[in-house]
Amino acid sequence: MVAITLKNINKTYPGGIQAIDDLNLQIDEGDFMSIVGPSGCGKSTLLRLIAGLEDPNSGSIEFDGMDVGSVVVQDRHVAMLFQDPVLFNHMTVQKNIEFPLHCRKVPKAEIATRIDHTALMLGISELLNRKPQSLSGGQKQRVAMAAAIVQQPKVFLLDEPLSHLDPRLQKTLQYEIKRLHKELKTTFIYVTHDQNEAMSMGNKICIFNKGTLQQVGTPLDVYTKPENRFVAEFLHSYHLNFFEGQVQIDNNTVSFHCEGVKFYLPSRMLAKLMHYHGKTVQMSVRPEHMTFESLNGKNSNYVSLQIIDTQWQGDKARLTLKSRSGEYKTMYTDPNNMFFLEDFQRVYVNPEQIHFYENQPFGRNVTL
Ligand code: ADP
Ligand code: MG
Repeated sequence: MVAITLKNINKTYPGGIQAIDDLNLQIDEGDFMSIVGPSGCGKSTLLRLIAGLEDPNSGSIEFDGMDVGSVVVQDRHVAMLFQDPVLFNHMTVQKNIEFPLHCRKVPKAEIATRIDHTALMLGISELLNRKPQSLSGGQKQRVAMAAAIVQQPKVFLLDEPLSHLDPRLQKTLQYEIKRLHKELKTTFIYVTHDQNEAMSMGNKICIFNKGTLQQVGTPLDVYTKPENRFVAEFLHSYHLNFFEGQVQIDNNTVSFHCEGVKFYLPSRMLAKLMHYHGKTVQMSVRPEHMTFESLNGKNSNYVSLQIIDTQWQGDKARLTLKSRSGEYKTMYTDPNNMFFLEDFQRVYVNPEQIHFYENQPFGRNVTL
């Protein structure tokens, strides 16, 4: 188990692409840290830097407070798992798992014990005499995991290990990887581009965009308190609703004007929005915080939206709605509700669950 500290890390590839931009990040020992962000944002580069497969242009990486800048890959005691498991096709599963241990001259009896235990843990005892070609994608990934575990690494680096598997198998292996983490009590760093996977796997999650760390925290923290619009939108699996409008402050009350209506905001927002009086900001509302019934029985805090599509989802229906200004919005409703398409409906917004962002693409959350 190891704690990893990244200090002012920069990585620029030949050709001038800055893959990591002044990164500071603390990963505590035993953490399950999810790293998430769009394709090309620097996730794999970060793992390769930690593993020692790449060197940063500047900055330092510490394992338990010791600078590992001059420590080569083999001596960092990290295990890496990739999208496509790296296995030798001419060797049996058993030989694949043993091979690195033989290279390290681990005693034979010790190797046998480790393999038995690990094969049992991963449910691959029956596969030990098979060759990798005869295995399914999920079985191959289990074998690669076993080969990593027997080396007893201090940290596991997993680079989108499940993204080539079908969704049902992904769910099973997600659970198994979490269980392994609990059992091994090792530091895990798990890269994915899927925000749902990142939130359900890690005890912490960090969100990247274009080589820059956007936010790090517990999944609940980043979901309920996104620091900027990028994080808020990225962590939303389907559609986060934004409304553009103006802040109005009078007589110590704060309201928000958009779509020709006025939203009364909680008094705690008064101080935060004081500087934005008369200015244009973006209000975010999650689909689950929009309803057809007023929460407090009052006839306020609603906007008129036109229902243009309903999508049945089993336990709920997802609605696509259009505002008078022509923007699309999303909300959920009971699947038994009947709607006539093209009808305008009053949609109430829960003012306790909204955030306001500065009016620019990756604008800062001003209501935290
Ligand atoms: P991710 O894993 O998040 O998709 P990467 O870390 O692979 O992102 O890449 C980050 C950026 O660095 C991308 O723009 C990518 O094209 C670039 N990049 C990655 N590896 C190399 C390399 N070996 N040489 C040049 N550019 C690279
Ligand atoms: Mg990658």
